[in-house]
Amino acid sequence: MATAGKVIKCKAAVAWEPNKPLVIEEIEVAPPQANEVRIKIVATGVCHTDLYHLFEGMNKDGFPAVLGHEGAGIVESVGPGVTEFQPGDKVIPLFMPQCRECRFCKSPKANQCVKTWDAAVMSDPESRFTCKGKKLLQFMGTSTFSEYTVLNQMAVAKIDPTAPLDKVCLLGCGICTGYGAAVNTAKVEPGSTCAVFGLGAVGLAAVMGCKAAGAKRIFAVDINPDKFEKAKVFGATDFVNPKDHSKPVSQVLSKMTDGGVDFSLECVGNVEVMRSALESCVSGWGVSVLVGWTDMHDVATRPIQLLSGRTWKGSLFGGFKGKDGVPMMVKAYLDKKVKVDEFITHNMALDQVNDAIELMKHGKCIRTVLRVSTQ
Ligand code: NAD
Ligand code: ZN
Repeated sequence: MATAGKVIKCKAAVAWEPNKPLVIEEIEVAPPQANEVRIKIVATGVCHTDLYHLFEGMNKDGFPAVLGHEGAGIVESVGPGVTEFQPGDKVIPLFMPQCRECRFCKSPKANQCVKTWDAAVMSDPESRFTCKGKKLLQFMGTSTFSEYTVLNQMAVAKIDPTAPLDKVCLLGCGICTGYGAAVNTAKVEPGSTCAVFGLGAVGLAAVMGCKAAGAKRIFAVDINPDKFEKAKVFGATDFVNPKDHSKPVSQVLSKMTDGGVDFSLECVGNVEVMRSALESCVSGWGVSVLVGWTDMHDVATRPIQLLSGRTWKGSLFGGFKGKDGVPMMVKAYLDKKVKVDEFITHNMALDQVNDAIELMKHGKCIRTVLRVSTQ
C-alpha cells in the first residue's frame, strides 16, 4: 500500500462540542503503532449511543471527538507485532476489545475485557487523529465516522471476505447488542414469555433473539406505534403502546400474562422504563436485562419495588466477546440464520450524517447506513 507508514489525510465527521451538528473536516490519521491496525472504513451505522454522547451524556471532556462505533472496513496497514491481520482483510472494529488474557476474557461468563475502558482502545488520550492542530478523541475507541481509523488489534474482528460491508457493519453494535441480550444475557428459554421495551435496532434485535431462543409470546412495547409493523417481522406476537393505557404498562403486562413476563429487556435508555421493565417481570424468577444506555447510577439510587426473586442484569454488547462473537454472527447472517437487511431503512453518504442523526432523533428510522468510502 502506498499509504503504509505515512500519515493519511482523509474525511471525517467531527463532533467539536456537545449539542452541535457534526462538521465534515479533513483530518490526519497517524500510521498504526505497535499492535495497531489502520482500517479504511467502508460503511457505518448510526446508533443511539452516538446520539447519547452528543446530546444526552453531557460529558464535556468527551470532545472534540469522532463518533461512530458500528462500522465495517478493510485493513489498510498494520503496525509492528501484528500477525493476525493483513492489508485487504475485511474487519469490524470492536468497541469492546477481547485481549484473551484477562480474567474476564478467560471466563465464559463475561465479555467485559479489562482493556475496555483503557488507553489500549484509544478512547483517551492516545488518539491517532488530529484536525487543525488539535487532537480528536476516538469515541469508544472506534470512530467509524471517518474514512480511516486506528485500533489496537485486540479490538478488531476479522470477518468472512464475502460479507457485504454495507450490511454487516450493523453487527458492530446494534444487532449483536439486542440479539445477545436475549440469547446470552437473559438466556431466554423455550416456551417463555418475553417483553421488549423500545423497538429501535437494539430492541428489534432483542425480539429476534427471543424468537430464536424459542419464546412463545413476545410483547413489543413502544410509545411510537410506527415501530410495531417491523417488530412483527422479527417475531413479536403482541404489541403494547403505553400511551394507550391509563394504568402503568407493568400492570397491563401483568394482567395479560397472569402475573408478569419471564424475561424483559429494556432497549430505550430511560430510567423509568428500566423500572417498569423490572416490574413487568413475574415475581419469583423474572429476569430483566438492562441494555439501554443511561447513567446507571441514577437507576441504582431510585427506590424500586424489588419484589422477591426478580433479577436485574446489565448487558454490554449482548454479552458477546467481540473477536469470537462478531465473525460468528456475520456467518449466521451469510447462512440466513439472522436478519440484517431488514434493519436498514435508509442509506446515505457520510456527508449526510446530520440528516441520519435527525431521523433517529425523531424516530423516523431503524438504522441508516452511511457509505464512508468506496471499497
Ligand atoms: P433508537 O433510538 O433507535 O430506539 C429507541 C426506541 O425506544 C424508539 O423506538 C423509541 O420510540 C422507544 N422509546 C422511547 N421512549 C420509550 C418509552 N418510554 N417506552 C417505550 N419505548 C420508548 O435506539 P437504539 O439504537 O435501538 O438504542 C437503544 C438503546 O440501547 C439506547 O439507549 C442505546 O444507547 C443503547 N445501546 C446499548 C448498548 C449496550 O451495549 N448495552 C449498545 C448499543 C446501544
Ligand atoms: Zn451502539
